[in-house]
Amino acid sequence: MDRRGVLAAGSAALAGLMAACAPPPQDAPATGSAAPDPTTPAPSSSASATPTPSPTFTDTDGQPAPKPAGAPVPWSDPTAVPHLFVHACVVDPARGFGTSAMAEGNLNYKITVAEFKRILPRLWSRGFVIVSPHELYETLPDGTIKAKTIMVPENRTPLLFSVDDLNYPAHQKDAGLATRMLVDTDGRVRTEYVDADGTAHIGAHDVVPVMDDFMDNHPEFSLTGHRGVSALTGNSGVFGYRSSVSLHADSPTFAEDVKAATAVAEAMKATGWEFSSHSWSHHAIPKMSLAELREDCDLWEKDVQPILGATDLMIFPFGWDLVGTGTYEGAHYQELHSRGFRAYFNVNPGNYTWGQFFPAYWRGARINVDGITMGRTLRGEADVLTPFFDTAEVVDPSRPPSISAPGYKYVSPLG
Ligand SMILES: [Zn+2]
Repeated sequence: MDRRGVLAAGSAALAGLMAACAPPPQDAPATGSAAPDPTTPAPSSSASATPTPSPTFTDTDGQPAPKPAGAPVPWSDPTAVPHLFVHACVVDPARGFGTSAMAEGNLNYKITVAEFKRILPRLWSRGFVIVSPHELYETLPDGTIKAKTIMVPENRTPLLFSVDDLNYPAHQKDAGLATRMLVDTDGRVRTEYVDADGTAHIGAHDVVPVMDDFMDNHPEFSLTGHRGVSALTGNSGVFGYRSSVSLHADSPTFAEDVKAATAVAEAMKATGWEFSSHSWSHHAIPKMSLAELREDCDLWEKDVQPILGATDLMIFPFGWDLVGTGTYEGAHYQELHSRGFRAYFNVNPGNYTWGQFFPAYWRGARINVDGITMGRTLRGEADVLTPFFDTAEVVDPSRPPSISAPGYKYVSPLG
């Protein structure tokens, strides 16, 4: 098996080790079978195709407007900004939590579109404002970083937000999730969702278009216009397109796929989204040999960077950081630093916020908003979501009483 094959091979053992914060490992894609059908009709750009929200859902879901913004106050501590993240959302719980082969992982690591639509207005109502990681630090000519001071109005709290794995691999097609992202005729980023009957809908079935619609109505939910960070791998292409030249160069639709994925990336950048590496292979970086890490970085730079652009953000696959609460050192860190990464984010729902900020790098913890954390919250085992929203108001009634997968046992990422 060549290096790429080693990286692409799934490693099921990793999922168990980092189950608290990990999506299931992404399977190696089925070569040549994955290109979206270019003849798929785009019925309309309306978001009304979304099938799951409750009939009573409205944009603000009954939440009051936030308190009026007060006088601007300087804020200069990146490590004190909380960071929430989600995965691609389940559109149809009957499939996503029921018939899908991915049901267990979906229950644990994902939320539904309806849950996301209930979360956003609650964050907004409580005065959270989305900020960019890059609003919180700058990189100096010598390569070191320095905290930046932002001005945050009284009654507002800066919040980092990221979404992982908007790759829509082909094996997800029956999982009740969106199948790809696209730019509609109005220039807006939308999703395609193929329902249980096989009918394709274009609308707002996942994080990016739902956030975009909410931000369009409530621009004050962002401090300066930033909407979030999208962390992407390369082992199945990006945004639902088989766009990785190292895997899909022989696909008859390869050039179209790269063009479509690039159009999505450009439209996202234009509306305030940023991109992070999530590794190419979605393997735990500390478990890679140094040679594998270098190959993984090479593949991301070859397959993903031409579409998204360069980034200095690393969101660790499985949230699996290089070290626990210590500081970075050693060859893996040196390799990532030499590739330009300056801000690193793991997963740890243990605290409202956690981070370290040094001249060489910033590292921070992200809180996983998913079935695991919502289930722990509703069972009284965690209160990390309490400052953000009332989980009981948010949780989708289609979930089982266990909220996460029945039988799931939480293991702290710190052991
Ligand atoms: Zn991931």
